Amino acid sequence: MKARQFCVFGNPIKQSRSPWIHQQFANQLGINLEYQASLAPINGFEQTLKTFIANGGAGANVTAPFKEEAWRLSDHLSDIARDSGAVNTLSVNGDRLLGDNTDGYGLITDLYRHGATLKNANVLLLGAGGAARGVIPALIKEQLASLTIANRTASKAHDLKQHFSDFSIQSCGFDELTDTGYDLIINATSAGLAAQKPDVPATIINPNTFCYDMVYQAMPTGFMQWCQACGALQCTDGLGMLVGQAAKSFSIWFGQMPEIEPVIQQLRELLQTGK
Ligand code: NDP
Repeated sequence: MKARQFCVFGNPIKQSRSPWIHQQFANQLGINLEYQASLAPINGFEQTLKTFIANGGAGANVTAPFKEEAWRLSDHLSDIARDSGAVNTLSVNGDRLLGDNTDGYGLITDLYRHGATLKNANVLLLGAGGAARGVIPALIKEQLASLTIANRTASKAHDLKQHFSDFSIQSCGFDELTDTGYDLIINATSAGLAAQKPDVPATIINPNTFCYDMVYQAMPTGFMQWCQACGALQCTDGLGMLVGQAAKSFSIWFGQMPEIEPVIQQLRELLQTGK
């Protein structure tokens, strides 16, 4: 039987591990799948997606900067995708395009996997781009004590707060961060690679703060190193989130949930050996 065709669209996309991850899931479950990475032009996502579907594409992941556009192009949205305003998983169903967002699932399962507590936690989310937007509905469901969105460009944090106006969320710029009582800080900015970190004050971290960086790389990220130096309780990167969100997408397409843990281990080893 011909393999069903899937794809991840982004710009840039060369760095994507999604084709490898989905191939591991397919191997685990004995599923025949073809999964490519596709560089869509910044102003040409819609056309690239239409061509993929016309050529028999069955589903796709969407990464930066196209998640909001994928949301607009979806004919039907899952509750979580509708609330977030961003789509990272598309399924083709006849002539309808179904949009979902699995980033929140990936984040929450990875936080629990690392022993973080979410109930009654004071949470600081750094960043107001597609990744931050995508995880907010899932975070809100976790009965947090508070959620603050802080962004380099404060107006974007305020816009995001406005989007989720049914919920009690605070928003501010980095320079307005004065609270010291955060139990969990999530870096959803793209400042995390190499020695970079978002320009936030060290006072946001206390000895009970759990820090999570959505960015991942072979070595601890710049943000993780900084959190550690500021005395955080624990710091972890976003590799588990990446595999978790992919597993949830896979389950949407194939109705079967693959095992996450062995794929996280293998991917960590690949990164550490420079592959
Ligand atoms: P976007 O481009 O939509 O948003 C980027 C965000 O980062 C904005 O809030 C921007 O702030 C901020 N930012 C960029 N550079 C800096 C800087 N130097 N200092 C402070 N803030 C900065 O990207 P996404 O939201 O889609 O992705 C954010 C990160 O999360 C990426 O690194 C991505 O790889 C990662 N990610 C990881 C996932 C995983 O599974 N592990 C899943 C999804 C994303 P401003 O508004 O001021 O420009």
